Amino acid sequence: MNISAIIPAAGSGERFGGKKQLKIMGNRPLMFKTISPFISSELITEIILVVPRNDVEQVEQELKSIVSAKPLKVIAGGKTRQQSVHKGLTVTEDSAELICIHDAVRPFITEALIEKVVNKCKEHDGVILAQPSTDTVKKVIDDQILETLPRETIWRAQTPQVFSKSALREALELAEAENIHGTDEASLLERIGYQVGFVEGSSLNIKITTEEDWIFAEAIFKHLNHD
Ligand code: C5P
Repeated sequence: MNISAIIPAAGSGERFGGKKQLKIMGNRPLMFKTISPFISSELITEIILVVPRNDVEQVEQELKSIVSAKPLKVIAGGKTRQQSVHKGLTVTEDSAELICIHDAVRPFITEALIEKVVNKCKEHDGVILAQPSTDTVKKVIDDQILETLPRETIWRAQTPQVFSKSALREALELAEAENIHGTDEASLLERIGYQVGFVEGSSLNIKITTEEDWIFAEAIFKHLNHD
């Protein structure tokens, strides 16, 4: 089965104060670390990197130093993450049956976790990685708590998120037509009735959003490289 990986990396990093996907971790831009297990994984057929329009050439240039037996495509992203993923979808190879979407800013993904999500796809229209919430989660409005959500039912969505290509295409097209903006792809499939499953991810699979997250990421990087 052919599986295309789409790596949305076209954020401007407003909350971070710069493009963290291109910031150096270890000795290379963060997103090159992120794609490494996708390059190694036998399950993934091609990788599509969706980057800011102004960075397409530079990323293409830098990718030349990476050894990969599979195609690595670089394209310009859109205004939102959703648009970037949609653009990525349009350049996937026709033979791809599953699409595996992974945030460029989650650099600690592993081949084992990619395999875990993909293997569960036989049972659902899509599968995502998620972590049980260790915090108690409140629903709020302004400075007031409306409701405390039962913690045992709360899981925090991560990526990779893997979907059948036809279901993902339908979900993205309908969302666009109805002006719906999802913060992940699973939510777009859920809202139109597709069954999305999940498997437990890893606490190390963090998303680097803020400057503080970079501090945690460097600590994880050092920890993993000293093992
Ligand atoms: O917006 P968020 O923090 O959820 O971003 C998750 C991923 O989506 C990041 O890797 C970011 O670069 C990417 N993104 C994108 N295009 C955008 C906005 C975000 O590819 N317009």
